Amino acid sequence: MKIIHEIYDIKEQIKKWKKEGLSIGFVPTMGFLHEGHASLIKTASKENDKVIVSVFVNPLQFGPTEDYSDYPRDIDHDSKICRENGASLIFNPSPKTMYGDKNYTHVNVDTLTNKLCGFSRPGHFQGVCTVITKFFNILSPDKAYFGEKDAQQLAVIKRMVKDLNFDIEIIGCPIIREKDGLAKSSRNTYLDNKGRQAALVLNKSLKSAHNLLESGEKDLSKVKKLIKNNIEKEPLATIDYIEIVDSLTLQPVYKIEDPILVAIAVYINNKVRLIDNFTFKIKQVK
Ligand code: AMP
Repeated sequence: MKIIHEIYDIKEQIKKWKKEGLSIGFVPTMGFLHEGHASLIKTASKENDKVIVSVFVNPLQFGPTEDYSDYPRDIDHDSKICRENGASLIFNPSPKTMYGDKNYTHVNVDTLTNKLCGFSRPGHFQGVCTVITKFFNILSPDKAYFGEKDAQQLAVIKRMVKDLNFDIEIIGCPIIREKDGLAKSSRNTYLDNKGRQAALVLNKSLKSAHNLLESGEKDLSKVKKLIKNNIEKEPLATIDYIEIVDSLTLQPVYKIEDPILVAIAVYINNKVRLIDNFTFKIKQVK
């Protein structure tokens, strides 16, 4: 798998592809790729002539007490996953290449970033939006692929693309899970055996909430309470947030009209922070 580290080199490659009239799909990642990332790459390679996967652990999106230096990295394994799923090349810049000695310019999407993960991780989405804007400018892809696992990120990027008039189509891809329901995540590797078992509470509590909604429950406070009760039964789990919001604006909803996003973040063993979610739309009665 070809790996490009420098901005000048990738721009030259893209110029050649564009001259040949080839379409470009882009999959931004922080590496340590798993089947969740693979599904994005596979979808991108079906829909584009060329697919670029960025592997970049972006320092701007980590808080001072977060796991930037411990974040798992394995470029050889990433190359294998990229090759097997039809990527054309990996863009793997260094932080110095992306930001020089200091980065003075930031991209901020307000309102959508105040709640959920944005509340617990101040500055996180500004870091995400800044790096994605830079990637979009460097790579000028036709389409970019994001996982629904990070539902807030997907909504924020869609809004940023609309507000800043990027001519890029944003494609959301479904959450890929382990057989027992745990959403795949690079951070699952931080879990010990007991933590791994405890982490099942995320998907289980969301499933019971989904069932309650399917059965016709309209009172969203009851749905929240059910999730809360389920998570609180798991001794190794601590709730960061349980939110039910409009899936596009991410503002709180009290009635089910437009699609709603039910999103949770939970600490396992007080240190591994995991997220999960589902979107629910009321069935239209004809
Ligand atoms: P990350 O490397 O964690 O920044 O993730 C890169 C992209 O992969 C993001 O768009 C994520 O939403 C997506 N992704 C990560 N895990 C999954 C998963 N289990 N299912 C679907 N997409 C995922």
